[in-house]
Amino acid sequence: MQFRKFGKHDWKVSALGFGCMRLPTNDGVLHSGNVNEKEAIAMIRYAIDQGVNYIDTAYLYHGLNGETVVGKALEDGYREKVKIATKSPIILIKKEEDFDKYLNEQLKKLQTDHIDFYLFHGLNEQRWKTVLDLNLLEKAESAIEDGRILKLGFSFHDKYDLFKEIIDSYKGWTFCQVQYNYMDADNQAGTKGLKYAASKGLAVVVMEPIRGGVLANPPKPIKEIFDSSYGKKRTPADWALQWVWNHPEVSVVLSGMSTMKQVQENIHSANISGVHSLGRRDLQFIKRVQKEYRKRTTIPCTKCSYCMPCPNGVNIPRNFELYNDCFIYDDPKQYRYWYRMLLPEKERANTCIACKTCEEKCPQKIPISELMPKVHTQLGEDKPIEKMDT
Ligand code: SF4
Ligand code: SF4
Repeated sequence: MQFRKFGKHDWKVSALGFGCMRLPTNDGVLHSGNVNEKEAIAMIRYAIDQGVNYIDTAYLYHGLNGETVVGKALEDGYREKVKIATKSPIILIKKEEDFDKYLNEQLKKLQTDHIDFYLFHGLNEQRWKTVLDLNLLEKAESAIEDGRILKLGFSFHDKYDLFKEIIDSYKGWTFCQVQYNYMDADNQAGTKGLKYAASKGLAVVVMEPIRGGVLANPPKPIKEIFDSSYGKKRTPADWALQWVWNHPEVSVVLSGMSTMKQVQENIHSANISGVHSLGRRDLQFIKRVQKEYRKRTTIPCTKCSYCMPCPNGVNIPRNFELYNDCFIYDDPKQYRYWYRMLLPEKERANTCIACKTCEEKCPQKIPISELMPKVHTQLGEDKPIEKMDT
């Protein structure tokens, strides 16, 4: 296993961390609460035996059962070999006291007296407001004082400006967790955020390095590029992982693994990983793949946000992004899931009342009000996806 610096922290983290949000399930449903414990425990322990020392979970994973499974996996001496990262379910916290209620429950489920790395889960504008309004930073500091938490961080799903604001607003962050892969270099915190966090001494934990698995199974025209003699050097998943590890600012890359084969392949990738290990031709090859993916965009939304805010609360660019992703990655199931998980109901396409206030502000002249009902049909209902002409 390769080990990397964890920000300013005096500890080396394995290049690969075990993300526990896609453990194998008995009903075959991704993220379901019916985890195949035997298989999941075997996978987590195998990874630890191979040197993985960072296990990432969350209160909300696997229908609230994820932490219990991780707790069982870390019995028999495995707890002492790893650091646990888990997340406070901000979405469920309605009053100050809820912070301790969930934290204490998490300690019990994980069978431990302390969480090594505790994160505010999935911060966006709304959830950051909850953190501030309910004094959750002070609550976390009390938990650090009494030893239930060792280090504090946050995971993030919003734009760079908010990411920077969160980092600048509080001196106590040790680390942050961001979505980062070769298709998201300019998305969410992006490369700019990665560099900013590292410049402030934060360890950067990367999630979704393979974009929820979609970059491992490219659609046909992109698969053909990987099948070319140069592309064959690595599997599509390995190309995606090595691109992330190539960045010196990255501490640990989390992969949400669902099978033992994926664990073994990712450990192999981690063993040969390194900062600046990709050469100029490798990076050019990835650029070619990026370009091919981007060609598959259906709605020409550039996410400039000139149309925002919508007076009715619709998150216009995010709806278009999720719709486009269905076609770019040829995986509608995945993006329907994210539509329900990541977009609050009041921001979804079906709340559009066709007032058209947004349309004159759109430089791309997108007929937003006309497309929103169609976007919701595609993402919110289980109907076959059909491409729209825009
Ligand atoms: S047309 Fe729909 S998306 Fe556009 S501003 Fe009006 S309600 Fe919002
Ligand atoms: S203004 Fe147009 S291009 Fe920009 S985010 Fe809104 S819909 Fe997309």
